[in-house]
Amino acid sequence: MRYRKIPDETIRRLPVYLRGALHLSRGGVESTSSKELADLIGVEPWQIRKDFSYFGDFGTPGVGYDLSSLISRVNKILRLNTGHEMALVGVGNLGSALLAFPGFRTYGFEITAAFDIDRRKIGRRKAGVLIEDIATLGLLNTRSIHLGIIAVPETASQDIADTLVKAGIKGILNFSPHRIAVPRAVKVIAIDIAMDLARLPYYVPAG
Ligand code: NAD
Repeated sequence: MRYRKIPDETIRRLPVYLRGALHLSRGGVESTSSKELADLIGVEPWQIRKDFSYFGDFGTPGVGYDLSSLISRVNKILRLNTGHEMALVGVGNLGSALLAFPGFRTYGFEITAAFDIDRRKIGRRKAGVLIEDIATLGLLNTRSIHLGIIAVPETASQDIADTLVKAGIKGILNFSPHRIAVPRAVKVIAIDIAMDLARLPYYVPAG
């Protein structure tokens, strides 16, 4: 199914709606309103209705949204319904924490390959995942992995991105502070907690 051009902000909010819907569903709720969902996740009800309107008819006026069909439709839109294997590059402090984090599975993600340059780490397992030699990263295209996570120092991140792209990776979650360059067909999402933190004091009155 093809959709018309959807604003990135809408796509950014869909996982938040999904998380709220999953929360309600696990609590035994079968249907919800945009008001109930909005209160739960902290957005305006009109925003939810507008976002869903991009994808056609989601709810029933006066009745609301059937949660199981809402969850399955959002999963399908986000392509979370198929499951995704990921390759992690850099098994240091951050990479180890990501490997140990069970929350990715809720959305069908699993880190099934990990790479590092450190001889002391290569060949060991972390959270059950074998740490492989970075020299073999280019062979990733023989496996069914299309998403990569970069958790190496800034100086190494562009080389790693280049190798990931050559190995057929289509989407990269980049934790390094370096803005990596990739071909247009590859999607990069950069995560930078320090940048979020750097704007927090602005909202906090002195004193
Ligand atoms: P770390 O030093 O603990 O780990 C880095 C790992 O990368 C090490 O295991 C090292 O052996 C490996 N490595 C180095 N060069 C490599 C290469 N060429 N190929 C493969 N592996 C290589 O660092 P960390 O604290 O885990 O941070 C990792 C990255 O994540 C850094 O770029 C850091 O700035 C970033 N970071 C981002 C956030 C965020 O909010 N986005 C938070 C913490 C760290």
